[in-house]
Amino acid sequence: MTLCNERGSPITPPFSKEVVQSSLGRLRQEYVDIPKPSGIVPVPGVEVFTQDHPDCKCPDSEWCIVSPWVLETKDAFIQAAEQAGLPMKGEPTSVYRSPVWNANVYLEMGKAVNWHYHRHLLGEAIDYAVLDSNHDANVDEHDYDPLVDVALDFGDVEWEYVFNHVHVQEP
Ligand SMILES: [Zn+2]
Repeated sequence: MTLCNERGSPITPPFSKEVVQSSLGRLRQEYVDIPKPSGIVPVPGVEVFTQDHPDCKCPDSEWCIVSPWVLETKDAFIQAAEQAGLPMKGEPTSVYRSPVWNANVYLEMGKAVNWHYHRHLLGEAIDYAVLDSNHDANVDEHDYDPLVDVALDFGDVEWEYVFNHVHVQEP
């Protein structure tokens, strides 16, 4: 199809204009486009997105949202767990997730997309990997439960139906 002007002449360069959406504009558009129960996730304002915390972003975006609670909690949680004798990876497995990234997390596991854990989309939740703290060659509830005890000192814990990570979010 050719785009024409009001006289029926095809619009070609130099009369055509390329319209480009910024990377932040595209990211915010995801909040509009992704099907989800309406009202769960508002479209965050441009002012809440940052490029200052690349360790909190997800791989498909250069922008993220990071709440003050996340900044206070991210490393302090790991220190508290290690002080409680629990082995930890040096970094969380997931902090901010874009709507598309969040959907792909579930699709790659072969599961329906779950918007219940939408606090990641607002930069208000952190996932920490659960390691085999009791050295029985399994990661199970005996490793998960002690890390939940640590997490409850920092925020609210949501059960994500797996023992291999703890989801903690801003209370
Ligand atoms: Zn989570």
